[in-house]
Amino acid sequence: MSVLIYAENADGKFKKSTFEAVSYAKAIADQNNTGLTAISIGDVSSDELAALGKYGAQKVLSVTNDKLKNFVNQAYASVIAEAAKKEAATIVVLSNSFSGRGLAPRLGVKLEAGVVDGAVVLPIQTDGKFVVKKTAFSGKAFAMVELTSAVKIIALTPNSYKVVETDGTANVEEFAVEPKASDLKEIVKEIMRSTDKVSLPDAEIVVSAGRGLKGPENWGMVEELAELLGAATACSKPVSDSGWRPHSEHVGQTGISISPNLYIAIGISGAIQHLAGVSSSKVIVVINKDADAPFFKVADYGIVGDAFEVLPKLIEAVKAYKA
Ligand code: FAD
Repeated sequence: MSVLIYAENADGKFKKSTFEAVSYAKAIADQNNTGLTAISIGDVSSDELAALGKYGAQKVLSVTNDKLKNFVNQAYASVIAEAAKKEAATIVVLSNSFSGRGLAPRLGVKLEAGVVDGAVVLPIQTDGKFVVKKTAFSGKAFAMVELTSAVKIIALTPNSYKVVETDGTANVEEFAVEPKASDLKEIVKEIMRSTDKVSLPDAEIVVSAGRGLKGPENWGMVEELAELLGAATACSKPVSDSGWRPHSEHVGQTGISISPNLYIAIGISGAIQHLAGVSSSKVIVVINKDADAPFFKVADYGIVGDAFEVLPKLIEAVKAYKA
């Protein structure tokens, strides 16, 4: 047996969530006294690939086929499944990212494997059982899932496992695969967005705002605070529905689920559907002028006040702290 980790990259650079997944996979490999192989798909420099060794990968399979430059669920799943077979991997780890969530069930079918997405801690392996703790009901609860299949797929929630550096090094090998034409049919159009902003699913700090901000013209202060803190920006559903912010920023039950270390919610009431996507944040700070806003019930820190007065002061305070 061995453990395989799919090392996801963004524009040729590995994400922090990838290093978390490699560290997590390394800990599972150690639990089972076995080796860890990483697979990377796309154009990634040899230095970047070799850096995976620092987090515990002993071998890195690099797939650079031009047809796989862009992410295609079915084709990537086929390649990862082939790598898993080549490495006799019985545990495959991915990040529970947008692409990881698409890949995990496809890999499950291809490898006849049990799948757990949204894992938050290392599996418990006692008495021959393999049990994984995962988030359930949009982050409102946890479930313990026992995997009984020979091959197991685990998608790790970003920000739930620490990056652990080792003194290891990795051997990088080309893994030549030719994707099937039928696997490549799925991609219709690729929308490339080049941005310097921090990516929301991977962000450690998120500054989020809701309808309390009154209109899109007031987002300047949200963006300024986010930039000062190195944070990503997010919003509530009505805000993106109204076109004040892009849908990619919508968090919650019908948006994306995030678990940053710090979530700052400004002018958001804290409806259950919003909380479903953010309640696993490590620290929640709420700014709302209504002391009875439901969000305060789950907040670690709360400021009862008008966002239009509090935010400028907060921005000045952060600037003064950084100066
Ligand atoms: P509001 O409810 O209007 O709250 C605005 C808040 O701002 C209030 O608490 C108010 O006190 C405060 N405020 C006003 N002015 C100021 C000021 N000057 N300074 C400080 N505070 C101020 N919502 C999501 O966010 N994500 C989802 O994924 C989602 N999915 C849903 C799915 C379903 C099936 C349904 C039915 C609803 C869903 N919703 C979702 C909507 C959700 O129920 C709430 O309506 C929504 O979250 C409210 O957004 P809000 O807090 O920005 O606005």
